[in-house]
Amino acid sequence: MKQTIALQACLPILNLGFDWIDHLVSVVVYPDTFVSEVTERDDVGVVHHYREARSGESWERGPLVLSWADIEAGLGEDGYNVVLHEVAHRLDALDGAVNGKPPLHAGMRDLTWRDSFSAAFEDFTRRVRANEDTLIDPYAAESPAEFFAVFTEAFFETPHGIIAEYPAVYEQMAAFYRQDPSRQG
Ligand SMILES: [Zn+2]
Repeated sequence: MKQTIALQACLPILNLGFDWIDHLVSVVVYPDTFVSEVTERDDVGVVHHYREARSGESWERGPLVLSWADIEAGLGEDGYNVVLHEVAHRLDALDGAVNGKPPLHAGMRDLTWRDSFSAAFEDFTRRVRANEDTLIDPYAAESPAEFFAVFTEAFFETPHGIIAEYPAVYEQMAAFYRQDPSRQG
């Protein structure tokens, strides 16, 4: 189990280096989907408490929490991978905001990243609302942060889907991860 999780967690940082996840010191594994207590303040300031079933959870500081059943279910190259998803959230959080944009490398432009991702997010959200079939998990329409995490799963497992539908996003992700999974295998 440790090897499976570690190998998958290393994939996104293969060409970035361990520094990018050295703040990740522990991983908690539940046998199956777990229930999380959520406290959230909505746009009008009302605080909501609720319980939610989750397959993974990532805190800005603290452990990565994962469901083993979901890790096993995502072992094929099907665009579903809870480890890649949660590691993407950690990378996204490195600049202090979980907003779908990790800290970019020298030579990459924030504006280009934002333009490509905003346009794709807008289009993807519209398609999901219209019940269109999408090659990528509709959960990506949840928020820009989920968009980046879900697209990271797809980037490594089903890269041709992103290239076909959102090539500008693929280009930015390839520059960020310093990998081009579409050329492997
Ligand atoms: Zn997520």
